[in-house]
Amino acid sequence: MTCIVCKKGSTQPGTTTVSIDKGATIVVIRDVPAEICSTCGEEYIDAHIMKDVEKLVASAQKAGLNIAIQQFNAA
Ligand SMILES: [Zn+2]
Repeated sequence: MTCIVCKKGSTQPGTTTVSIDKGATIVVIRDVPAEICSTCGEEYIDAHIMKDVEKLVASAQKAGLNIAIQQFNAA
């Protein structure tokens, strides 16, 4: 698809690292599937992928972790 930020580049499938700072917990998730703009680097993550990301954040919070680094595994 065409990037909606720069309106010039087109996105390519790839992976990115997402970090989420939520309450007392910071979660860094590696290898999250994303569409990445080849021009400006903007990342687009699907809603269903974000749901899985939120699950990882929730489980880290439940475990009482301050910092968690996780590998994304597509369910
Ligand atoms: Zn762009």
